[in-house]
Amino acid sequence: MRDSFDIHSNDNALFTTAMCSNRCLMCCQPPSERNDIDQLWERNVKLIDSAPKELPSIGITGGEPTLLRNRFFELLKHIRVTLPDTEIHILSNGRAFYKKEFAAKLGEIGPEKILLGIPLHSDNQLDHDLIADAQDAFIETLLGLYNLARWSMDIELRVVLTKLNYKRLPQLAHFIYRNLPFVKYVSLMGLEYTGYTIKNADQVWIDPVEIAQQLSEATLFLASAGLNVSIFNLTLCVLPESLWPFARKSISDWKNCYKSFCEKCRIKDKCCGLFSTSIKHSSYLHPIV
Ligand code: SF4
Ligand code: SF4
Repeated sequence: MRDSFDIHSNDNALFTTAMCSNRCLMCCQPPSERNDIDQLWERNVKLIDSAPKELPSIGITGGEPTLLRNRFFELLKHIRVTLPDTEIHILSNGRAFYKKEFAAKLGEIGPEKILLGIPLHSDNQLDHDLIADAQDAFIETLLGLYNLARWSMDIELRVVLTKLNYKRLPQLAHFIYRNLPFVKYVSLMGLEYTGYTIKNADQVWIDPVEIAQQLSEATLFLASAGLNVSIFNLTLCVLPESLWPFARKSISDWKNCYKSFCEKCRIKDKCCGLFSTSIKHSSYLHPIV
């Protein structure tokens, strides 16, 4: 955790709690049972108060930030007053917004300069709840998405690519197009091989090269349907060339690395590189020369 914000960093975030209402099988930061909200609150308020006024963006992460309940809204209001020009990127599992009153409190703060990143693991309840390791996660997340849409909130739908959901990626793309066309972005995200992914590797890890067909179908369908789709955390050398235009340099600077052979790769400047926190990467990494 940082003690101050760096205006040049792509990752200035407030870590609000390690607790979460999900237990996702590939969570990179396994949730804790301990209530740490009070302990982290003061530190986060100080970080906001000492941040440079020109800070372009600030993340709100966990764990699950909505577990702060009313303090979640207090935090947002404090950022709005202290850093009025800063974009706020909230990472949440979205479940708390299934209650209309909770979504309304965010709606009353207003959608300006707020983007919510919310994960959807599958087009069906069985798979989503299995991956989130939480009963009713699918239905609550979906209701949350609809309630947020009512308040015109900007939403980034995040799909973490695992062995458990890659086969139905094309179906998930169609599900998003039919049921969630209001989302602003769809981010298809490579796994960070750390945290619960290590423990559940047999269930969740698959080499990204092996999902190329389903990933291509889903990405190209979403793009052709007019949705703003991106691929995060996957290096260009493991993606078909047709997907390169969708790949983003997405990895936070403090945990981003490259292999020594990347130096001779002609597209290194366009490639997101690797998570330094991952203990395993694709077996198919190779320089493009
Ligand atoms: S919702 Fe996010 S923080 Fe919570 S368990 Fe899943 S990946 Fe981890
Ligand atoms: S060789 Fe390195 S820089 Fe080139 S595409 Fe692969 S990971 Fe990226």
